[in-house]
Amino acid sequence: MSTALHLAGVVLPEGEHRDVWVRDGRFTFEPVPGAETVSRGGWLLPGLVDAHCHVGIAPGGVHVEDLAGLREQALADRVAGVLALRDCGAPVDTRALDDEPDLPRIIRAGQHIAAPRRYIRGLAVEVEPDELVEQVRAQARRGDGWVKLVGDWIDRAQGDLAPEWPAEALAAAIAAAHEEGARVTAHTFGTDALPGLIGAGIDCIEHGTGLTEDLIGEMAGRGTAVVPTLVNVEHFPGFAAAGEKKFPAYASTMRRLYAQSGAVVRAAFEAGVPVFAGTDAGGSIAHGLIADEVRALHAAGLPAEEALAAASWRARSWLGLPCIEEGAPADVVVYDTDPRADLDSLQRPRRMILRGRVVA
Ligand SMILES: [Zn+2]
Repeated sequence: MSTALHLAGVVLPEGEHRDVWVRDGRFTFEPVPGAETVSRGGWLLPGLVDAHCHVGIAPGGVHVEDLAGLREQALADRVAGVLALRDCGAPVDTRALDDEPDLPRIIRAGQHIAAPRRYIRGLAVEVEPDELVEQVRAQARRGDGWVKLVGDWIDRAQGDLAPEWPAEALAAAIAAAHEEGARVTAHTFGTDALPGLIGAGIDCIEHGTGLTEDLIGEMAGRGTAVVPTLVNVEHFPGFAAAGEKKFPAYASTMRRLYAQSGAVVRAAFEAGVPVFAGTDAGGSIAHGLIADEVRALHAAGLPAEEALAAASWRARSWLGLPCIEEGAPADVVVYDTDPRADLDSLQRPRRMILRGRVVA
């Protein structure tokens, strides 16, 4: 039996001052005699979520295989208050991290699935369209309820972004994933891959910088989510500059997508598309930048409380994780100032409880 804990503060998102106890790793609102008070005052936020990151990839697409290296990445997220993350594709097996009680809960999407030579070398399982259904089933069984497709990437013959999959292959693959009980998401930067993915009933779009008003309307109608990864989109001008000489059309596309990225996020939010916070950490992007992503969503036009919800309670409920409620696993971050009023509060977590244990 672990020691019972007691916290008092403003419980979010409801905003009411309450006393909360933790017993056997779970929240309860029933007083627990003898509980140790570990936090008094402040704001109690359901653990943050990074809805798009990668544990197991280092700069240059290098695979991280050793437990210490994997731990270091996941721990950087947790230090930032991220108590759950959706791993949007990893080329290595990170299951050993599930036995580390101080690391975030990881919800996996298996390994990226791409068409041959149409993604960062060495990261994806690369298959032809007629093998897509089989591979989607395989990755659905490797993951924790998600499958990740690469929807578009540069086509070197065309010199620009282009879709990777015919619409019929997508329809069959997404239906197969749903049969396996998994949701599907796809990397897309450009526009052309989006109608096929959304029309096939995909559950989420990653990045989504190429969304148009019509596509946003269709997503809103279907309830398709978007994870804009604005921390990643900041690198688009760099991608454009790197591709400029060999692929000028691609470079110009990337600059255009960058220029419209904030407006796309605002339009999606205003149309009612569920928007969630993800940093795309892993590879060249450092882990632990969730506060930057929340501020970027706010700068793009989400009200501060909505940007916070996109990284906390709303993201948790989308991923099937409870918040601060009777009987729920005790995952909470405490701040001295109200993070709804001041998103910079996210930089300064005062206390963190994960799986019912004080971890910071
Ligand atoms: Zn990613």
